Amino acid sequence: MRESSMEQIQKLVKKQKEFFYSGKTQELDFRIHCIQRLKDAVKRYEPDIINALKKDLGKSEKEAYTTEIGLIYTECNYIIRNLKSWIKPKKVKTGLIQQGASNWIYREPYGVSLIMGPWNYPFMLLVAPLLGAIAAGNCAIIKPSEMTPNTSKLIAQMMEGIFENEHIAVVEGGIKESTALLESPIDFIFFTGSEAVGKIVMQAASKRIVPFVLELGGKSPCIVDQDANLELAAKRIMWGKLLNAGQTCVAPDYLWVHKQVKNDLLKLMKETIREFYGEEPIENPEYGRIVNEKHFKRLTRFLTNGDIVLGGKVDKERQRISPTILDRISWEDPVMKEEIFGPILPVVEFTEIHEVIDQIRKAPKPLALYYFSESEKKQQFMIQSVPFGGGCMNDTIMHMASPYLPFGGVGASGIGRYRGHASFECFSYEKSILKQTTNFDISLRYPSAKNGLKWI
Ligand code: NAD
Repeated sequence: MRESSMEQIQKLVKKQKEFFYSGKTQELDFRIHCIQRLKDAVKRYEPDIINALKKDLGKSEKEAYTTEIGLIYTECNYIIRNLKSWIKPKKVKTGLIQQGASNWIYREPYGVSLIMGPWNYPFMLLVAPLLGAIAAGNCAIIKPSEMTPNTSKLIAQMMEGIFENEHIAVVEGGIKESTALLESPIDFIFFTGSEAVGKIVMQAASKRIVPFVLELGGKSPCIVDQDANLELAAKRIMWGKLLNAGQTCVAPDYLWVHKQVKNDLLKLMKETIREFYGEEPIENPEYGRIVNEKHFKRLTRFLTNGDIVLGGKVDKERQRISPTILDRISWEDPVMKEEIFGPILPVVEFTEIHEVIDQIRKAPKPLALYYFSESEKKQQFMIQSVPFGGGCMNDTIMHMASPYLPFGGVGASGIGRYRGHASFECFSYEKSILKQTTNFDISLRYPSAKNGLKWI
């Protein structure tokens, strides 16, 4: 649906509610069939998806496949393999005062779920939660980002081709459509995007007390300690930072490096960038571009912060910024005040790990944290010392690539988890049921009770 009015959206939600209450979406075969159809459609549309991502973000084919498409196949396979056991009601213990009864937990879908997506991974970040919605037995309305219009249009075309809109529908558009959706009688909201809009979503949810999940962003620190394997650290940090030209919610936002290894690491990072993208990365077609002029301008303003030790080149026409490393940065610089979301890496040095920990504890809780050290003891200390949604020891980003690891933030970086089994849990709630016997009645609870067991 394009240019949807409030009235059209209300009608759509009503239609989906009716379909939901038909019970069809809760049948195991129906859910598996839908996930299989979606997987087959992604396969058929692969070249179109890659093309749309190229047009919207300049993503290379390899990057489009690994970060937006391949992950969807993994999720589909995992859900198809496990759904039967996930949806079975679980029998749990029965307490002494409930003798004769049995206790059960049913996993119930919410009903009509709204999924709102961002522009940076505009395909994967809509389709991955959609798989969770279908697996849990929901109807869903998905709202792609208006900032990536080619991918948005393609998603609408693809979903319209495989699903009835009483089950899965796409509403394209911007703030007007999002607002109308948030005001409609939906049963669950799954939002991925900025903290600012996350607060708007939370307010809208509070009006009717609608359950929600927020997948937000923030400044994710990356820390390299003096005992780290520097060669690997350089590669893994620059790979994570430069994916999608730095426009990744879990990209290492800034780098803390131990004073003793700083010069060596900077040298290795420069070599790595050359190895990945050549002498002029800005000219390399494999290297992504900034999504739009507004973000391009916002990012170029950071280039006056600290000293540029590598990169700093910009191409206004093609909205490209070369991989840039900034040294001698102060915490007061604008680049340290907001999520960077671009290929610019500020570097801060430390001598005592407690400086790092104190600073992170003072800041809003990050979505991800990456720590490089050969010492397991130090890794364990880091994991337990600061709050963050998830992360890696001696790597970046890769914790996102597993259906076995629930993904999400904490505090300002988000509320809730999804991926794999966590997606199924995220789009459903636990309905607790006590099944009572009618063979006998324990009458002790009644006001009139004088003695214990009373057989009917
Ligand atoms: P955004 O918040 O601007 O937009 C997200 C969605 O909200 C879009 O569909 C948009 O149309 C809608 N929207 C925008 N303004 C709105 C308003 N006033 N009222 C209602 N809806 C509105 O986010 P973005 O710029 O697309 O994405 C970048 C942000 O998302 C970054 O902060 C990044 O860290 C975060 N992000 C988080 C994750 C994650 O998984 N945690 C993944 C990707 C991006």
